[in-house]
Amino acid sequence: MKVIVVGSSHGGYEAVRGILQEAPETEIQWYERGDFISFLSCGMQLYLEGVVKNVNAVRYETEDHAKAQGVAVFVRQEITGLDPANHEVTVHDLAAATTRTEHYDKLVLAVGAVPVALPIPGADLQNVYAMRGRDWAVRLKARTVDPAITNVVVIGAGYIGVEAAEVFAKAGKHVTLIDVLPRALQLYLDEEFTAPLTQTMQDHGITPAMGQSVEAFEGDAGRVTAVRTDSATYPADLVIMSAGIKPATDWLKGVVDLDAKGLIKVDDHQQTTAKDVYAVGDATLVPYAPVGGKQRIALATVARRQGRTAAKNILGQPMKTPAVAGASALSVFAYHFASTGVKAGNAGQLGVQTKSVYVEDTVQPPFVPSAAGNVPVYFKLTYAADSQRILGAQIMSKRDVTANINAISLAIQGGMTLQDLAYADFFFQPGFDRPWNIMNVAAQAALLGKT
Ligand code: FAD
Repeated sequence: MKVIVVGSSHGGYEAVRGILQEAPETEIQWYERGDFISFLSCGMQLYLEGVVKNVNAVRYETEDHAKAQGVAVFVRQEITGLDPANHEVTVHDLAAATTRTEHYDKLVLAVGAVPVALPIPGADLQNVYAMRGRDWAVRLKARTVDPAITNVVVIGAGYIGVEAAEVFAKAGKHVTLIDVLPRALQLYLDEEFTAPLTQTMQDHGITPAMGQSVEAFEGDAGRVTAVRTDSATYPADLVIMSAGIKPATDWLKGVVDLDAKGLIKVDDHQQTTAKDVYAVGDATLVPYAPVGGKQRIALATVARRQGRTAAKNILGQPMKTPAVAGASALSVFAYHFASTGVKAGNAGQLGVQTKSVYVEDTVQPPFVPSAAGNVPVYFKLTYAADSQRILGAQIMSKRDVTANINAISLAIQGGMTLQDLAYADFFFQPGFDRPWNIMNVAAQAALLGKT
């Protein structure tokens, strides 16, 4: 069997790995249009802040290692066409400027997404950057130590924008963080959490400019000098675009079914509408555990699960992608937070009636001094108003207690209710936590009707 995998990030890597684990004799051709396989944008902040020194280390797989396992790796080769009837793809060799066709028995499209470029005046000015992939990582790194860069404007205050803002604030730049939404990180956290996070960002030299729509980039001699929104103009020597992503699927229009946003339609086995063609990762939707249906959740965790599912199905082991809740975590200066599932920011859009309970506590029992790390922890639990099923949660502290959110994801996947969570068995040791874990505390408070 000959399998072609297109794309070498999380989704493609996992598809290749999944096949190799169980059927190493499979003929695999692995294509990447960039000149480097398996760069992990997830590790970009660690590289930009100097924690990881070598940009080429930010990866799971190398060309040499994959080749040693019998995989034919092709970099700077873009798949530009697909003919499902004949089981063929068109390969454009970017280095040699030649085109050829390749036959496949099974095809995995792990083409992912690219940053959205705002269609506004000045978008083609120099120093308008994005934050995704190795090439941008290298260019951004140079700007962190560039004395000519004083003012940085980041557009989009989701995870990636906040990471970018923190990197450049730590590098001593003045950063303005713009978003059309009223709060930074609004899609991940409710206001109880974003208020202290916004304050800490301000304390570190980041100016939030929320609820503003970017109208133009202004420039001088071809280089960006300012960002104009509907309410103000901000000086900018560097602009970082992190206002969303779009699937890299233009070339698939009319070949496999795409939705209105260009996402590839897949069934629960990652099979597209074309026979023997699978798709995984940021270019697809994923089954959503809290309320059913499918959602767009652009996370490496999702791409990896889908890649493994595709591999299993290709090998004749029928498997459905497990429904996910979209658990994610981030540090913002001293704070560590994580969230999963439904929150105020997305309950309305999901059409679900929810209730929430918010609790504050200390991580450890009261007798442990704060100097020993016994700091406050903030937790919010969201559940279905009618059935009391657990639908989501958010946690934040200056101690890293983010892993609790994985337990909530499991509770969501398992269809647990408040009653289940209120008395669930979690460990206690005063060096770590309290006799009732904060998840127990919140569920018990909700059962008592507290909010
Ligand atoms: P992509 O990562 O988009 O990769 C697609 C690959 O396919 C690219 O290398 C592209 O060049 C190649 N390609 C596309 N089309 C073709 C073609 N026609 N021919 C050949 N090659 C092609 N997720 C987390 O879970 N945790 C995190 O901490 C996290 N942090 C992140 C931080 C940043 C800064 C960013 C940008 C993202 C982060 N993510 C994180 C999200 C995560 O990186 C993505 O969800 C994940 O990379 C998606 O993987 P993918 O395989 O679908 O596609």
